[in-house]
Amino acid sequence: MHRKPPTRDIDEADLSVSPPKDQAAGVTAVAVALERAVEEMGVLRTARTLARVNQRHGFDCPGCAWPEPTGHRRPAEFCENGAKAVAEEATLRTVTPEFFATHSVAELAGKSGYWLGQQGRLTHPMVLRPGDTHYSPIAWPEAHRLIADTLRGLADPDEAVFYTSGRTANETAFLYQLLVRSFGTNNLPDCSNMCHESSGTALTGSIGIGKGSVSIDDFAAADLIIVAGQNPGTNHPRMLSALAAAKEAGARVIAVNPLPETGLIGFRDPQTVKGFTTGITIADDFLQIRLGGDMALFQGLARLLFEAEDRAPGTVVDRMFVDTHTAGFAEYEKQMRAVDLDEVLLATGLTRAQLEHTARLLAASEATIICWAMGLTQQRHGVATIEEATNLLLLRGMIGKPGAGVCPVRGHSNVQGDRTMGIWEKMPESFLAALDSEFGITTPREHGWDTVDCIRAMRDGRAKVFVGMGGNFVSATPDTAVTEAALRNCELTVQVSTKLNRSHLVHGRTALILPTLGRTDLDLQDGVRQQVSVEDSMSMVHLSTGRLRPVSEQLRSEVAIVCELALELFGPDHPVPWARFRRDYDLIRDAIARVVPGCADYNRKVRGRNGFQLPHPPRDNREFRTASGKANFAVNELQWPRIPAGRLLLQTLRSHDQYNTTVYGLDDRYRGIHNARRVVLVHPDDITEFGFRDGDSVDLISEFDDGVQRRVSDFRIVGYPTPRGNAAAYYPETNPLVPLDHVAERSNTPVSKAVLIRLEPHRHPAP
Ligand code: SF4
Repeated sequence: MHRKPPTRDIDEADLSVSPPKDQAAGVTAVAVALERAVEEMGVLRTARTLARVNQRHGFDCPGCAWPEPTGHRRPAEFCENGAKAVAEEATLRTVTPEFFATHSVAELAGKSGYWLGQQGRLTHPMVLRPGDTHYSPIAWPEAHRLIADTLRGLADPDEAVFYTSGRTANETAFLYQLLVRSFGTNNLPDCSNMCHESSGTALTGSIGIGKGSVSIDDFAAADLIIVAGQNPGTNHPRMLSALAAAKEAGARVIAVNPLPETGLIGFRDPQTVKGFTTGITIADDFLQIRLGGDMALFQGLARLLFEAEDRAPGTVVDRMFVDTHTAGFAEYEKQMRAVDLDEVLLATGLTRAQLEHTARLLAASEATIICWAMGLTQQRHGVATIEEATNLLLLRGMIGKPGAGVCPVRGHSNVQGDRTMGIWEKMPESFLAALDSEFGITTPREHGWDTVDCIRAMRDGRAKVFVGMGGNFVSATPDTAVTEAALRNCELTVQVSTKLNRSHLVHGRTALILPTLGRTDLDLQDGVRQQVSVEDSMSMVHLSTGRLRPVSEQLRSEVAIVCELALELFGPDHPVPWARFRRDYDLIRDAIARVVPGCADYNRKVRGRNGFQLPHPPRDNREFRTASGKANFAVNELQWPRIPAGRLLLQTLRSHDQYNTTVYGLDDRYRGIHNARRVVLVHPDDITEFGFRDGDSVDLISEFDDGVQRRVSDFRIVGYPTPRGNAAAYYPETNPLVPLDHVAERSNTPVSKAVLIRLEPHRHPAP
């Protein structure tokens, strides 16, 4: 049965605001999850599909990268937002050639991303040729030929860019980077460039590997867990269960965030009896920090830890660990002892008592985990901030110890695995040499472009072909006007997608939409069922098996799309066995086993009860593969954003009804925002000081020193308990405010959590 799509688009006039909630999840979350799932899939398909999410022989949730428990799995191993992600993908609604014949590209471009996503699954490959007003169907071989001909016609392989979204499974990612490098370029931007690149850069320098050092079981063994710049209640909801279990086992949780997010305050675990009655408070301490003040916090804490060490020598600094495993301690100590605590209080907005209390907890804890997400990474000084968090843990000997370590919490479900499989514009020589030796090819060595550099290249005409393996590039990236112009500047844009999105409507001179299987779909190659594998935030790799009959026989798996394109591009005599890879994904995993470090015996290990965990030398045996051979204390000058009078520092964020660029619905239930999205959350005293009233309609104008005026119009002011001087609004609506060149130092990540804005009254056009 194909269900009718809703036809009504967002009407911002429907906005209603209620007080923020103080409890996350609970019965309401279950009800919302089931309602959305049944609406999209019907009762039977809902029951069959949700029963398999995150189960051992089921499929990996296409939502976030939070790991599954290693022990017993409950019948419902998903959260409200996981259920929404599954419902979006497994929907029975379809977008057919008839749909495209009815709706012109111009008409669709006027719809919201929410409306586009609600139309359903793409069913056929479609093409838009120069001068066309509507997409029309194209046969698969012709689509592949069109791409291959265009690629072959480029003057240089570097004129093409190949983007990857974090949903892409390991097998596809491995083959995709192999295709791209066989073609002759390292232009492999990915969504990680825009989220945890700062984490990877910082951790690689500090501990020699850009991944987190904790496992899911460490949470229950921790004394102290700091959750900084992160909203797990919406973005990684099952993390709340891990935090709740840690608290039951005696851990203390400190939340560090500009907004008092509901999930950090109260949590009702719908899987427990207690969750249906009282719920629990997650954060024992809430440090409501000013945007961008985290680096100051970590440095201030370090200074207080050194003072505590002076008062009781040998009790705070883990001398054995520092002397044996680290480098740069003396310089770090000198710098931290000189930190100005008054400046720290100014930068953070915290009190001296809060700082001292937190330092006491850190000094007393025998096992500390620091978790973080975009609140830290998308700052101008995001890399240095994460280095300072890591410094604190090194000082206390908290790496490679049960219940302790660094925990960057990844967003999209396989974003970490894609990087492991080689999706990076600057993979190390050892990886490229292994590829060459495995396949008898010569891969390019010159580094490619990341996301920001790709946009610059397309804008300037240096890149002419864009291929997107999943994702919604135009809505995920900053500086929307620039990014849209960059894509329109391309000769060809190709989007491999499950659903309609804005990136199909902002296109090159020729555009292709290639419909693909999702995680939930049965993947048959020559009649044999295939499985894919993924890696979670804690380096666990496991299989994912879709079982739903695809909504159209025209859908191809991402692996098949890559292999068929490669055959068209390179011909049948290419040294890579593309045709065999397409027929049997075990053969891809065998190749991965020989090329990718830590993946030996991949096919056997990935079929183990929980899959397998990739090696992590600092976690496993306190081995640090840095240039010094030790963990490095980084030394940084304190940085924090100053906000001029009359201005606000804006962070862009998701609503609770949203995952990355996918908008599932119009309720940000926990924050009390309903039916609309163009809102800006501002402290009530700032609203008054700027001469506005709650509910006024305003334009947001960002200020950056490039002379370009970036404005988004007609946002409603909502009084909210943000820190003074800080504001928040949803993306992608506010992406136009983030300048392309406003990036984090060293990681090139757009700094969406540090956009200086002013508010102006919105002038409604004359009737
Ligand atoms: S926590 Fe993340 S991976 Fe788990 S069910 Fe929710 S969205 Fe999916």
